[in-house]
Amino acid sequence: MKPKSYYIPTSLLTTNNAKTIKGEKLGWKTYILYMSPHRQNSTGKSICPKASAGCAAACLFMSGHGSMTNIQKGRTNKTEFFLSDRTKFLNMLYIEIAQIELKHRLEGTKVTIRLNGTSDISWESFKIVDNKTIFELFPSVQFYDYTKNYLRFNKELPKNYRLIFSRSETNEAIAMELIKKGINVAVVFDKLPKKFNGYKVINGDLNDLRHLDPKGVIVGLKYKIVTNKGANNKIAFESNFAIRTAA
Ligand code: SF4
Repeated sequence: MKPKSYYIPTSLLTTNNAKTIKGEKLGWKTYILYMSPHRQNSTGKSICPKASAGCAAACLFMSGHGSMTNIQKGRTNKTEFFLSDRTKFLNMLYIEIAQIELKHRLEGTKVTIRLNGTSDISWESFKIVDNKTIFELFPSVQFYDYTKNYLRFNKELPKNYRLIFSRSETNEAIAMELIKKGINVAVVFDKLPKKFNGYKVINGDLNDLRHLDPKGVIVGLKYKIVTNKGANNKIAFESNFAIRTAA
């Protein structure tokens, strides 16, 4: 199905996230691109190719600030924009990051960018300008993301892109193979344990500066309650997407 019409948003990247504000105390400004996850767009096409039933049901799109309808609309509009006119979208992203990079270079401050706030797009596969990816165009910018798409680890990733694998109810065996190779794995719990499957669990909610984490650890994330009307928070645990450790 053809994507429905969209408007050009004022900006693609935002900075008002509670966890990234914590990172500012450590000197890093974080910018995040939030879209509408999985199949939440007019085409029904998934922008999270390896989403599980549990993660899709419990996705952060609906939690925290995401429960506000105007924010959902804005995020959906960005997805429609991405699906309708990829070139225009990527050019806008390029210009926005160029402005951010310049601002922080002049200020002498550090910047990190997460392009998959609520999506799982393989940004490393898009060439934007001069046959270069966004990572090659901005080598001094630190990018990071979480992904459930294990295929993305088959190729060498850009040095300025830290990618964390996200465990779900369907991919734990893959997650354990990846952590053996030093790739960090994010796991959602009700209460963070000290260890998971023998690997140290660090508190991933203290900030979102994933590139500063040691390698070969579990990034423990506390399950965030979905606050919108009619939300079913049980499904995250019943599906085993989120793990119950508390008695
Ligand atoms: S893959 Fe991530 S962004 Fe996509 S539906 Fe699952 S939790 Fe949400």
